[in-house]
Amino acid sequence: MSSVPAVGRIAVVLIDLQQSFTRGLWAACLGETKAEHIRQCFRRCADLLVKLKKDVPVLLSRCPVGGYDLDWAEEVEEIVSAKAYPTVIKYDNNILDATGFAEWLGKMMRSGVSTLVVGGCTTTSCVRVSSSQIQRSFSNSGLQVVVDLSLCSARDSNYVPRCQACMDKYMMYGMDCTCDRCVTPGVPAVSPVDKAMEYMRESGVQVVQGFDWTPFVEE
Ligand SMILES: [Zn+2]
Repeated sequence: MSSVPAVGRIAVVLIDLQQSFTRGLWAACLGETKAEHIRQCFRRCADLLVKLKKDVPVLLSRCPVGGYDLDWAEEVEEIVSAKAYPTVIKYDNNILDATGFAEWLGKMMRSGVSTLVVGGCTTTSCVRVSSSQIQRSFSNSGLQVVVDLSLCSARDSNYVPRCQACMDKYMMYGMDCTCDRCVTPGVPAVSPVDKAMEYMRESGVQVVQGFDWTPFVEE
């Protein structure tokens, strides 16, 4: 398990921990069985929020899939309702566009936050775009964005490695396909999640398997 040392104070952003991705509109397009990674990530996010020290700021986002469908995922509903975290609604993949987010982040940075840990769903879309945009916009101000992969997820098929031709179809048309070459030994194959990790790292985001939460959680 890799980790990076936290520098200064941290704040946490968890993106779209919504039922939509496991049982709602978004998941309905895929079939519920294709969201097992997302379900596991929601459980890990809930476990973290239960233990997280009270002085660690947390912000949650939600997106109105199909114009609504904002319900929290059942895995996180209890803890999220109990804590009443600040929440923003985002209408695209970039949380910086959400009303109130930049103000919240500015306030965090003025209070000494220099590390922003990001998790949520999906790794290939909103987590990738939001973490990269935040890093690009605020690196000059000394902010380091860290994406904790153990708190992130994407639909199950996005973990399947594929050949360059199949990846091109995914990147250009969102087509989810694999072929014989994808599993041929010697043919380089990467998954959309691998690709997203590469994109975030190129943006300066620290992408880690698991952030070291030890100093920030109750015993
Ligand atoms: Zn292929």
